[in-house]
Amino acid sequence: MPGKNLSRDEAQQRASILTVDGYRVQLDVTSAPDPAAATFRSTTTIAFRCAEPGASTFVDLLAPAVRAVTLNGRALDPATAYDGARVHVDGLAAENVLTVEADCAYSRTGEGLHRFTDPADGETYLYTHYEPADARRVFATFEQPDLKAPFTFTVTAPAAWDVWSNAPHLTVTAEAGARAWEFAPTKPISTYLTAVVAGPYHVARDHYSRTLDDGTVLDIPLSAMCRRSLTPHFDADEILGVTKLGLDFFHERFGYPYPFGKYDQAFVPEYNIGAMENPGCVTFREEFVFRSRVTDAAYEGRANVVLHEMAHMWFGDLVTMRWWDDLWLKESFADFMGSYGLVGAGTRYRSAWVTFANQRKAWAYRQDQFPTTHPITADIRDLEDAKLNFDGITYAKGASVLKQLVAYAGADAFFEGARRYFQRHAFGNTELADLLDILEETSGRDLKSWAAAWLQTAGVNTLTPQLTADAEGRITELAVLQDGGVLRPHRIAVGLYDRDADGALVRTDRFELDVTGARTVVAEAAGRTRPALVLLNDDDLTYCKVRFDQESLETLRTGLGDIKDDLARALAWSAVWNLTRDALMPARDYVALVLRFAGQEANIGVLQTLHSQAKGAVDLYADPAWRGEGGRLLADGALRELRAAAPGGDHQLAWARFLAQTANGSEHLGLVRGLLAGTARIDGLEVDQELRWALWLALAAAGQAGEEELAGELAADNTASGRRQHTQCLAARPTPEAKAAAWSAVIDSDELPNALVEANIAGFAVPAHRDLTALYAAPYFKLLERVWAERTIEIAMRIVGGFFPQAQVDEATLAEADAWLTGHPDAAPALRRLVLERRDDLARALRAQACDRA
Ligand SMILES: [Zn+2]
Repeated sequence: MPGKNLSRDEAQQRASILTVDGYRVQLDVTSAPDPAAATFRSTTTIAFRCAEPGASTFVDLLAPAVRAVTLNGRALDPATAYDGARVHVDGLAAENVLTVEADCAYSRTGEGLHRFTDPADGETYLYTHYEPADARRVFATFEQPDLKAPFTFTVTAPAAWDVWSNAPHLTVTAEAGARAWEFAPTKPISTYLTAVVAGPYHVARDHYSRTLDDGTVLDIPLSAMCRRSLTPHFDADEILGVTKLGLDFFHERFGYPYPFGKYDQAFVPEYNIGAMENPGCVTFREEFVFRSRVTDAAYEGRANVVLHEMAHMWFGDLVTMRWWDDLWLKESFADFMGSYGLVGAGTRYRSAWVTFANQRKAWAYRQDQFPTTHPITADIRDLEDAKLNFDGITYAKGASVLKQLVAYAGADAFFEGARRYFQRHAFGNTELADLLDILEETSGRDLKSWAAAWLQTAGVNTLTPQLTADAEGRITELAVLQDGGVLRPHRIAVGLYDRDADGALVRTDRFELDVTGARTVVAEAAGRTRPALVLLNDDDLTYCKVRFDQESLETLRTGLGDIKDDLARALAWSAVWNLTRDALMPARDYVALVLRFAGQEANIGVLQTLHSQAKGAVDLYADPAWRGEGGRLLADGALRELRAAAPGGDHQLAWARFLAQTANGSEHLGLVRGLLAGTARIDGLEVDQELRWALWLALAAAGQAGEEELAGELAADNTASGRRQHTQCLAARPTPEAKAAAWSAVIDSDELPNALVEANIAGFAVPAHRDLTALYAAPYFKLLERVWAERTIEIAMRIVGGFFPQAQVDEATLAEADAWLTGHPDAAPALRRLVLERRDDLARALRAQACDRA
């Protein structure tokens, strides 16, 4: 569709002549409960000024039909004014009123106004999700972040429903079988931040208030919503408790009163991402409402997201990036504040920085080593570019670099900078320079060169210790070598570790210093006794990959699990995983480390990361000749640790889930079946609904779950989650028919909702089924351009990423990927980027396999 992929140039041009005074948006969703109704009525009235009277412009709209367009009282013919993506208007006056009346489509892809009908009770639910540019699927908009305006929404919905939007509602008027909800005008906000949530949601309400510096009392009504059928599982008190701690904390740090009145948090079905920071009306994926037992890592993850979205009320909503190049100005900050807030606000999640070091940074390292990596401040030509940049660089590397900035410039300067930034740019738009100017004021440091090194270049540095000692075992010199593209200034800590009386590895010395250039000597280390372990980037101040000297690596092989400190141990785990990915440690050695030490890993989040990495090491990085044995070792290890784990604890649950993921021999699968049937028991382990599905998936993937049995489980759990997992189990069966059905359900029709697309892909792509899925590699490459052209970008991204023949780790598949890339230089850049990244994963796996074979 021409015009759908709005460019930065077009947005700049439009912003240079337009000022938007306000939107009035009227939506009629009374048809939503009727599955036969495909569309809803949308009427938008935009008041805007034009600096060049006589000029022409366009508004963005993706709608099946436009009924009427009126500009300044003049009716335009929709047939000529509307091209399927834009409504073109010309002859603008200095002051304009444009009205667009359209039929917009209910979404099944999570983009725009998503409609979901609950299989448990037949109730229908709606919510919107727009970022970066899907408001245009719901109303006519100038779809770019820097044309902020106040929005006034009116939503007519079924009488039994409630409706929420960014602002509180002013009136609710009964109409025939319906109610019309009129909302207060919002503060000036960007189009992608507007929101509507509607349906018979269950609501929990609360209140937050604080006395501001000027003595006035700030009152914030709080609410949290979920589908009615999830009510028994909804721990709203816990969510609202974290919410209140966060509001206290961010008020103290940011010094700017929460600007959006009330604070609603809706947990919504079939949500594509974690959550979205719509001002006053945050939406979350409803998997954060836990139907079954989850580990504390899941609670920590959810609390992190609550604080991340809350931080956006300031970073992103109050002050917004001008264009998507500076997406990091909100995402890096929010990502940083999620962990910072968990620790600082007094929540019970004290190990947030361990999780950050071990999981969040792994995402950044992976992304930053793709050939498609980019500086944190990116070059975003258009909306497709923007869509792909919600990535490990913009979030996790950006947050890591802010952590480094806090170490470099100091927390006081950082937060004083934030306060001035909000004061100076409230309700406005900014770029990198606006932030740097302020941080230079508050820190007194020249941050231009720091920003050039950290924000405007791509890639990750590697830091390696170089240690010499004398005959008595004293250090003569400890140096830090830096390589990996552009060298940067790193504020780091270096830790020296030795065994204590109990045999634990504990830190005996810590040196903090600035590493600059290719080689930096740690002067203070000279003369100390050579330690068992040298840990660079101890305390995780900077963003880098860390290597070890030979002796330290030997210490880790025999004693990684003995490192007493959780963060140091997580850093060591992270470093050996990077060695494995970089083909410097054989996959089987990494697996041996996990099998040896994961059983004593205290941090539950780290343990779950080890599980998924060990599985990935066997599936993708191990020599195929050893893969079978590696898989058996993992399953045996899982069973051993499951039996050894404390009854009823998080570790027991994590090992049970890992057993479900690795079970392959008759002993493991027999236990899986026994747990499902109730004939086998593990003391303290409750086999609840989500665990049951995990166990069924193990049987299905092993070819030991029949269609009737799976249907029986679905009948017992006829819920949204049950339906997804049932779909995944069907697709995970190791038969040509099951793979063909899953492939066809996704490729040959666009009827499936996003959640079931994902479930089919996940089931199809079981790595162990690589022989069955191999014949889909050729069709995959043939289909790419058609999929990209015909499907929404969200669904296309899932298909391109999920159906890539990732498990076919061989030269032939690599050659196929290369042939496609060579043969399609003009394919959409965003599509090429996705294929390049998958191709790079494949090449990395080949290198790792060669290392494991050697
Ligand atoms: Zn965010």
